Amino acid sequence: MNHEHLYIGGRWTASHGGHWLEVTDPTTEQVIGRVPDGTPRDVDDAVRAARRAFPSWSRTPAETRARHLDDIAAALERRGGELAELVTREVGTPLGFARMAQVGLAVLAFRTAARVGASYPYERPDAHSLIVREAIGVVGAITPWNYPLYQAAAKVAYALAAGCTVVLKPSEVAPLSTWALMEAVAEAGVPAGVLNLVSGTGPVVGEAIAAHRDVDMVSFTGSTAVGRRIGAVAADTVKRVALELGGKSPALMLPDAEPATVVPRTLASAFLNNGQTCCALTRLLVPRERKREVERAAAEAARATVAGDPMRGGTQLGPLVSAAQRERVREHIARALAQGATLVSGGTEPPEGLERGYFVRPTVLSGVTPDMDIHRAEVFGPVLVIEAYDDVEHAVRLANDSDYGLAAAVWSADRDRALAVARLLRAGQVEVNGAPLNPAAPFGGYKQSGNGREHGVFGLEEFLETKSIQL
Ligand code: NAD
Repeated sequence: MNHEHLYIGGRWTASHGGHWLEVTDPTTEQVIGRVPDGTPRDVDDAVRAARRAFPSWSRTPAETRARHLDDIAAALERRGGELAELVTREVGTPLGFARMAQVGLAVLAFRTAARVGASYPYERPDAHSLIVREAIGVVGAITPWNYPLYQAAAKVAYALAAGCTVVLKPSEVAPLSTWALMEAVAEAGVPAGVLNLVSGTGPVVGEAIAAHRDVDMVSFTGSTAVGRRIGAVAADTVKRVALELGGKSPALMLPDAEPATVVPRTLASAFLNNGQTCCALTRLLVPRERKREVERAAAEAARATVAGDPMRGGTQLGPLVSAAQRERVREHIARALAQGATLVSGGTEPPEGLERGYFVRPTVLSGVTPDMDIHRAEVFGPVLVIEAYDDVEHAVRLANDSDYGLAAAVWSADRDRALAVARLLRAGQVEVNGAPLNPAAPFGGYKQSGNGREHGVFGLEEFLETKSIQL
């Protein structure tokens, strides 16, 4: 799986650099491919191509753009099985979940963006003015490794639907599926320069995009630390910056909720994609008097979690994406224990029989309090923490006691009670009683989880400028 070329101006072109970035399979620890280590000159070429394509693409009727997006969705769907295997190999996502989330949600993002983009009212009168929403211009899209195809789709689909042209930089950790996206774009007959791919490292290619004078907007998904840096680099050119960042999301089990339902569902969320999901529910807040009962249920559910080769059917927990990520997660567990947390299940040792591959035991820690680092830090591994509260007011305070505000959950036998608590939470999305994802609902964070919204109408509007014409 060696990719020798970037995709710029509708052509497969060599990087100016002549260097490569290797991609490792986290299950086997073997190198499985390489991609070009791009340079700022490659970014210049890609931005020029995107700029050239912009006038015509932004004036193309929204329905025609939508047809292209549906064609991209169909091209990705045709290769669904192969792409799921590819992402499983580069990220370690269990294969069944990869088919549904890594590929299925990417296809759905293109279909939803097509529908939203085609039906959006781009113009409306207001007194003697005409209010026009139009494409912002050239978008730099910088994406993470945890859902590599889906995160790219969330940006590319809506930017293209809005009439923008795009320079995409995928994560160097898991870039391979992005080549399939370019192939789908070429197959769908999307005009040259509308979508361009420059792989490379964050500090070189990412910063060149964020700083570029001819990039009108940078849309970033990744860690809060890098988001902060991108905001600073982009500030010189006053471009729009949309940030989708990390989280440490709480699940509130209200006193009338049933641990038998809440615990396995929260654990499954915390362990989703091997614990590497931005909106994972990683803090379970429980009434103090039910803590023991919850710990027992959590220990049982964690022990029943099947860790192993993500390609094998039945595996629920694969490896972490890299050795560095595994070390970070183990350090978080060790520090929490040193600071007084109790180990309910798991720990810092590799799971039995899984010494090869970047595996971490499914871990549950209890007795966690706000003075411990693990109450605040995004671990990004299969680690759930249990925190006890005294009353609902205390639970809400604990839930909101975070620099993050990406997601939250509330569980109660009484839906209205849960809804009342949901309104008090400072988070961009709150699920009540395990309600499913809505792919057209806005997704984004409060506080240091970001300032953007992706998906649906809000996701489209991110990529639009506003003009008032007085008549
Ligand atoms: P990361 O911040 O390390 O990297 C993300 C991207 O930024 C990569 O493409 C990387 O090359 C690039 N980058 C790194 N340094 C850069 C720099 N100085 N300038 C410009 N670009 C730079 O994040 P990651 O480890 O790939 O992903 C995990 C993080 O992403 C977690 O914090 C997770 O919560 C977050 N995330 C958030 C969402 C969301 O929607 N809010 C979704 C998925 C992941």
